[in-house]
Amino acid sequence: MAKIAELLSNGFTFSVELWPPRTEEAEARLERVLDELRSLQLSFVSITYGAGGSTRERTHDLVVRLKNEYPAVPMAHLTCAAHSKAELVEILDRYLQEGVENILALKGDPPLDAAEGLEEGELVHAIELVELAKSIGPFCVAVAAHPEGHPDSIDLRSDREHLAQKLRKADFAITQFFFKVEDYLRLMDDLMALSVEKPVIPGIMPITNARTVYKMAAMAGTNVPEELSRRVELYADKPEELRGFGIEVATSLAEELVEAGVPGIHVYTMNQAQATVEIYENLNMSSRVGR
Ligand SMILES: Cc1cc2nc3c(=O)[nH]c(=O)nc-3n(C[C@H](O)[C@H](O)[C@H](O)COP(=O)(O)OP(=O)(O)OC[C@H]3O[C@@H](n4cnc5c(N)ncnc54)[C@H](O)[C@@H]3O)c2cc1C
Repeated sequence: MAKIAELLSNGFTFSVELWPPRTEEAEARLERVLDELRSLQLSFVSITYGAGGSTRERTHDLVVRLKNEYPAVPMAHLTCAAHSKAELVEILDRYLQEGVENILALKGDPPLDAAEGLEEGELVHAIELVELAKSIGPFCVAVAAHPEGHPDSIDLRSDREHLAQKLRKADFAITQFFFKVEDYLRLMDDLMALSVEKPVIPGIMPITNARTVYKMAAMAGTNVPEELSRRVELYADKPEELRGFGIEVATSLAEELVEAGVPGIHVYTMNQAQATVEIYENLNMSSRVGR
């Protein structure tokens, strides 16, 4: 099984994020999504983790299954919030034994509908999880980057410094979703000024449901530009038109990013395949991936 850092050094990557299903119905839907995505040349598939362990077994089982049965490298998200160090060691050891080599090391966020925040874990920041994973085995470890700054950070400068420290120890980063190419370019300039040149893959979220995107943007600290928000309002009662518009916006952002020389594109699929397939085709990705 390949390490994603190697895929990145060999050429352009196209990847997606999926979450492990909670119900039988969601499981059937995920199977359909995985089938539809088979037609794409996916470099890797990342599987989310419910901070504190709410998806512990489901994330593990899906990652291992994809590793054994699916034509794209799986990456397991893992969060340090609300876990003890011993629990994290156990989870990482198990992945190592099963040949899962790619981990996205995160602090973790409470779910969208949670009333309260998360308990602190024994490891407070994601950088400590990067160090732990690297001390346990030859994992390829990715981290999260926030182009507009993490919403809890004191200021952008200190957030960039924390990211730079974390990325120096990790292999690559994936960004939170954003809507303006300048935000990504500023992040890269700031990292370069801090002498960090690891690959940073931009994360793209196609708008297919206005309410979800606003909620997620608020939580992630992503600014929804006024003009974009105005257009989204226009399609409030027209889901098909909103979907088409969302794909158009995501395609043109990805085009600008590709022109700017990004190492890959990562799509937040929200466990729906169609928008991702259309973006992939619009960008003629099959002629680009791996080159
Ligand atoms: C690609 C991607 C995938 C994600 N997947 C998941 C998932 O599966 N499950 C989930 O729960 N969440 C997920 N998240 C959300 C993520 O957990 C949140 O954004 C979380 O709030 C921060 O995680 P982090 O790993 O960036 O944290 P950290 O790197 O720990 O940073 C969190 C905050 O602490 C600050 N900080 C960092 N180091 C220090 C330090 N040494 N001293 C003081 N302050 C410091 C940072 O500036 C930042 O404000 C994902 C995010 C991204 C971008």
